[in-house]
Amino acid sequence: MEFAHRYVNALPGDTSKDNRRREITGAAWSLVHPETVRDPKLLSWSPELAADLGLPDGWEQSTDWLAWLSGNAVPPGAMPYAMNYGGHQFGNWAGQLGDGRAINLGEIQDSSGVWQTLQLKGAGPTPYSRTADGRAVLRSSIREFLCSEAMHHLGIPTTRALSLVDTGDQVVRDMFYDGRAAPEPGAIVCRVAPSFLRFGNFQIHAARKEKDLLAQLVRWTIEEYYPDIDADAPDAPLHLVQSVLERTAALVADWMRVGFVHGVLNTDNMSVLGLTIDYGPYGWVDHFDPDFTPNTTDAHSRRYVFGNQPRVAHWNVAQFAQALLPLTDDVEGLQALVDTFPRVFSSAYESRMAAKLGLETLEDASLIKDLFDWMQDIETDWTLFFRGLMEIDPDDPRATLLDHAFYSPPRLDQLETIQAWLTRWAEATLEEGDFHDARMERMAAANPWFIPRNYLVFEAIEAAEKGTIEPLDALFEAARRPYEVHEDLEHFAARRPDWARVQPGASMLSCSS
Ligand code: AMP
Ligand code: MG
Repeated sequence: MEFAHRYVNALPGDTSKDNRRREITGAAWSLVHPETVRDPKLLSWSPELAADLGLPDGWEQSTDWLAWLSGNAVPPGAMPYAMNYGGHQFGNWAGQLGDGRAINLGEIQDSSGVWQTLQLKGAGPTPYSRTADGRAVLRSSIREFLCSEAMHHLGIPTTRALSLVDTGDQVVRDMFYDGRAAPEPGAIVCRVAPSFLRFGNFQIHAARKEKDLLAQLVRWTIEEYYPDIDADAPDAPLHLVQSVLERTAALVADWMRVGFVHGVLNTDNMSVLGLTIDYGPYGWVDHFDPDFTPNTTDAHSRRYVFGNQPRVAHWNVAQFAQALLPLTDDVEGLQALVDTFPRVFSSAYESRMAAKLGLETLEDASLIKDLFDWMQDIETDWTLFFRGLMEIDPDDPRATLLDHAFYSPPRLDQLETIQAWLTRWAEATLEEGDFHDARMERMAAANPWFIPRNYLVFEAIEAAEKGTIEPLDALFEAARRPYEVHEDLEHFAARRPDWARVQPGASMLSCSS
């Protein structure tokens, strides 16, 4: 494994290796060093990602790898650094944030020749740690590890997770911000992505009027990740905004397809490559509810609820565009571009929703709107409903086949509404000529059988904290093939049990991690 230092070499940085918390100006990164941990253990790893990275056979047994993945040793050739970025948190400019507990080891080339950055999350403090400790707890690390890989296998762009290491150290957290701080097991996830650049990496230099550095960063991003754009053209920043906008719209449309709620869509948690990044108090809708958020920190303002994600993504893209404003004279052009977000999103969204319904095209968008109306009225499980729809014969659509998707039995008038909607769906399907196999293929690719439901992950975390890793392994097994039916894991494709409806740690999470 050979490390390159492409990002560090391309951009100015702070080489002092002084981990003291401070403002870092005129620099895109800071050299740092992971802190050692007491007794690291590899709890889980992703075989698919290891294969993509071309890791040697038996790497997961190797003491060298364990030392590298826990921060107890730095692999030969690595030059650990933390990135400098800022961001808007809950709509307010928060200034410098940066990698406060994420330490990048450098880039390695994967088996298809793509440069991938390896990053240890929870490996100790950096100049960006502010008042925090640079560490991560096991519960949030399990959530990040599992969901990164689940997202990848769902076919949704995301940062990846190679490994989950229990550090053997305790980390103190006040999980519910109620003054009851307690020690918890610490952990480190090795995250992997072509780049961890966020909107906030651009915003910080714009906010500090570091125009040359901003221009350098834009050039690097275009040359590395958007090679179709001519970095020398005067309108290059506009093209970058357009590409980022398109990827962001597609990403959010994918989240809506599978019922994912990110939970903290601050601009420092928005990837410039359109990847899902920073798994914190995220969740999945069980019953369809556009107003759902698992993030208790957002319970009041409800900025980041499920149904608001497209609007917030639009706002975030506007902040990204604003950060590039110093590099263009074409303010109107930039604004016009940002204004296309709703249209670009709708088109991405409608094609995904059509696929979920098994339709080639969504001729009548009211089919979706009316579906959502009754789904909200009759608490309906998002995932189970669409898998259930796959069982329904358009020549004889029967609502009874959807029984298992409802959280309580529908009343007679509600049944009538469902039946009427199903009849419309069946007509739309038959109008397309119902090519059964093609329809089933579309639906099977758009509607996962498995999603890592909040309560399932909660149960796996409770077990892991007591030293039992098997429940996590079982979830990971299903997450690696989410569109397949896993008959031996039938209970993973069931409605959320009642106890989990309002359950701290499952449907209620804080940012404490
Ligand atoms: P997040 O809410 O995870 O997106 O984090 C926001 C900012 O806080 C980022 O700059 C993180 O690196 C930083 N941060 C979060 N948790 C910690 C921690 N335990 N130690 C140091 N920095 C942290
Ligand atoms: Mg973050």
